[in-house]
Amino acid sequence: MKCWITLLLLGMAATAHPAAGTHPLDYRFRELEPGIWLAYRPDVTRTPVMGNVTLIENEQDWVVVDSGGFPYVGEQLVRWIRARGDKPVSVLVNTHWHGDHNLGNAAFRAAWPEVRIVGHAKTREAMSGAPIGYVKTMAEDFAAADQTIRDRIATLTRPEDADLRARNERLLRDLEQLRPLVADIPILPPEETLEERLLVQRPGRRIEIRHAGLANTDGDVAVWLPDDGVLVTGDMVVAPVPYGFGSFPVEWVATLDALMALKPELIVPGHGDPMEDYAYLERLQALLRKVSADARTAVAAGQDMEAFQAGFSFGELQADMTGGDPVLDYLFDVWWRQPISRSAWLQASGRPIVQGPAE
Ligand SMILES: [Zn+2]
Repeated sequence: MKCWITLLLLGMAATAHPAAGTHPLDYRFRELEPGIWLAYRPDVTRTPVMGNVTLIENEQDWVVVDSGGFPYVGEQLVRWIRARGDKPVSVLVNTHWHGDHNLGNAAFRAAWPEVRIVGHAKTREAMSGAPIGYVKTMAEDFAAADQTIRDRIATLTRPEDADLRARNERLLRDLEQLRPLVADIPILPPEETLEERLLVQRPGRRIEIRHAGLANTDGDVAVWLPDDGVLVTGDMVVAPVPYGFGSFPVEWVATLDALMALKPELIVPGHGDPMEDYAYLERLQALLRKVSADARTAVAAGQDMEAFQAGFSFGELQADMTGGDPVLDYLFDVWWRQPISRSAWLQASGRPIVQGPAE
């Protein structure tokens, strides 16, 4: 798991320079539809990455989807909700077990002790056991990352590396601000679990929590608001490039079909901007189909995992997604091509995909 968190941490990135002087974990808020708010961290590829949060205001209460990746984020969300009135958060959904979506849970429990924390049974399992154990060593990992980043900066000497170098230097500064926030983070797994579907009924609004199949993890849930036409996907959809750690490429295609069959008008991904059409999901499916097909061919030819991972390319499909941006190409490689090709090879070989440290 150290490898995985390091990849997410060190995957330097993106093209935009965010405003100086902001805390690296400051979220912004915007209303997507009446009563449905997105909380997001500007500069989506800034590391460590932070999941989107969706806040749904009902007549008497709030239902919140995900809680951010630090208690610091959870506390911001609680403050924002409280500034809007007295309605409590009654349900907090965790879309999956990765900490950037649920380490803010404790702030919600502290603010509203009655809050129901809901997730898939597999999410509870992963958050109760070894997979999320990386959180316990995050303080040490953040400390060790410093030297790795300094070493990396020392190699970024060409004029064309200036952007990447600036991003690395900012990450060093960010880590200083994050270090006090990573020790002793409480992990609160969902106490209320579902296998397939849980309906939360509110006046004028149905809130359906659905497991549509294996995808990014073994316990992803989406939140579907049929009366609003809004679908919140967690990391089954992540833009501008997907994440593929411990994922299930074969099943993921059908899972996306099941989500699109709901005919959402607005899709809120786990990271990145909301989408009004299915073009990105279809590109994601094309990537998944290709890696699974190539893995089957490779395994049939007797190729081992390392060789397949090293040689596998998405070809033009990668450029379709990254537009040839060198930083996005780099992130696509470490966050997607490498881990998803590993999973595809395992699946083609009939081996299990294990959540957590095996990555
Ligand atoms: Zn995430």
